[in-house]
Amino acid sequence: MAEINATCPICGSDHHESLYPLYAGPAVTSDFMAVTYAVIDNRCCRECGLIYNAAGTRGDTDEFYRHTYRLMMHREEAGVKSFTPLTAMSQARRSYTLLQEMIGLAEKGAMLEVGAGKGHFLTHLAAGLPQWSITALEPSAALESLRRNLPLAEVIPTGYQAFEAAAETYDLVVGLGVLEHVPNPLDLLRWAWRSLKPTGYLFIRVPNFAYNPGDMFCIDHLSKFTVETLKSLASAAGFRVVGVREVGVPMFLALSKVDGPLDRLGNCFDENLAVARRNEALARRGIELISQAREAALGRAENFAIFGLSATGLFAPWLGGFDPKEITAYLDENQAVWGIRIHGRPVGGLDLIDQLHIRHLALAMSPIYIDVVKENLKRYPLTIYV
Ligand SMILES: [Zn+2]
Repeated sequence: MAEINATCPICGSDHHESLYPLYAGPAVTSDFMAVTYAVIDNRCCRECGLIYNAAGTRGDTDEFYRHTYRLMMHREEAGVKSFTPLTAMSQARRSYTLLQEMIGLAEKGAMLEVGAGKGHFLTHLAAGLPQWSITALEPSAALESLRRNLPLAEVIPTGYQAFEAAAETYDLVVGLGVLEHVPNPLDLLRWAWRSLKPTGYLFIRVPNFAYNPGDMFCIDHLSKFTVETLKSLASAAGFRVVGVREVGVPMFLALSKVDGPLDRLGNCFDENLAVARRNEALARRGIELISQAREAALGRAENFAIFGLSATGLFAPWLGGFDPKEITAYLDENQAVWGIRIHGRPVGGLDLIDQLHIRHLALAMSPIYIDVVKENLKRYPLTIYV
């Protein structure tokens, strides 16, 4: 693990508020990979407001994405689903639908996706806009699937820093689930600005930290974004915000290139610190609820489970000081993760409640999904900790 740099990656200030949890030990990535040792040192910068993990995978990102990061590689069709109360559709389809709603692209053009993964989003784009030329960057092992899924695209096996496009080449640059992973998100935005034509657009998706308290435990989400942070960084990089859509935890921003970058960065410290303090309380509460479910189950010699594959639920054994074997299972409504194991424990849907005689269930998830999940759990003989 690289030595921790004391300064903000965006503005270079060393003035910050430290946030929960200051942690060193075993950890789990956003893709459920276990790592034996990582440091979490979350901070809110007083000068620009960025919420960032000063440690985590910072300093090791190249190595990490080449060797460690396996985004849902256990099954070819696996992909993250996007949930809203009424509909569930793939995150890739939703991203393409929102792109067209928010920007409305011409019939022809040239686009670049950074961190294209296995190409799920690009498959939708290539089908909807067959005359567009596609360039896709992907540094991880997802590359082979990407080449298979997008035979006509130019696929380049790197992250963005190793690829400098000719200036003003693209009509559209896309980064879905990328900005939160890179050490310096402003650097990525400026890179995109340089490679876009003067009339070009940047379309991004990141998790909205305001609805994602579990992200306090995530070692590879180096930045925790709020709408305010993104607006501030966008204008500092030379973009105008065309639209913002919040769809559950994910949020989408459409940005258009404007004349030139500002030399001054705004400061959203007050707004962001308020969000961070609320999330600290929720993250602590999440760990407590899991402990309560565990203790009640132990007291009655019954089984307990954790609902939701948030980082809170994955960290609970380490922060609560208990053996992960005590967890009967992890439950989640996203079928893409059914069948995997976390801490050696099975992951599955609600049918595991009866199969494994689960009687206590802690909900470790974003507060915005809780009402829907509680409704779906009504018919089970469970004590729910929420
Ligand atoms: Zn800063």
